[in-house]
Amino acid sequence: MKKSNNSLKAALFPRKCFICGDFTVSPYCLCDECSTKFNMIYETTCKSCGLTVNFCQCEEYCYHFESVVSAFKNEGAPQKGIYALKFGGKIDTANYYGEILSQIISKKYRGIDFDVITEIPMTAISKRGRGYNQAELIAKVIGKKLNIPHQSLLKKRMFVKTQHNLSRDDRFFNIFGKFKIANGVTIRGKRVLLCDDIKTTGATLDEAARILRLAGAKEVWCATALITYKF
Ligand SMILES: [Zn+2]
Ligand SMILES: [Zn+2]
Repeated sequence: MKKSNNSLKAALFPRKCFICGDFTVSPYCLCDECSTKFNMIYETTCKSCGLTVNFCQCEEYCYHFESVVSAFKNEGAPQKGIYALKFGGKIDTANYYGEILSQIISKKYRGIDFDVITEIPMTAISKRGRGYNQAELIAKVIGKKLNIPHQSLLKKRMFVKTQHNLSRDDRFFNIFGKFKIANGVTIRGKRVLLCDDIKTTGATLDEAARILRLAGAKEVWCATALITYKF
């Protein structure tokens, strides 16, 4: 594209697509062409773990949360978008994932009256380094769309080894005891909607749900932008 052409486009279309980088009028910063690469999960999924039947391992694990719903598989363009949000500073991307997740939550969690929406926290140091917590941004978008009050209920303790290179069982062990309830929040008797960007094994969501339940939450329901199938 020529430079003059580029600046004209920039004047007309104030946003750039978070996948291809081209100019777009989309309020979600996703151009029409790239939006076709975002295929929502359409198969029937396990009500507990959010995976399709072939991948569900719920006979081996009993979670502290009620259920997980996710928008996309953790691959391709949806994964690229989450990386842009997490590592590329493209915070507008949260609007897109929040919008799609709101639609899914309205459908799959229909009739459930949530008292509060919250997110998996980052450590204070990590959040300061990035400038934001992407899960919190998504949770706030959903809260606004679905009229659920947002509150950051959890804190993450320092010095948690990253989960990337750990086996499934080690992930549950590694994250155990790493969350605590934020000061001054009341959780007793509440029905909580817990958000995160990616569900991998469910260890992080499970530990957060365990702590919320210990603090008296009535139920914890989860929603993640992406879900990993092959772990
Ligand atoms: Zn695009
Ligand atoms: Zn399952």
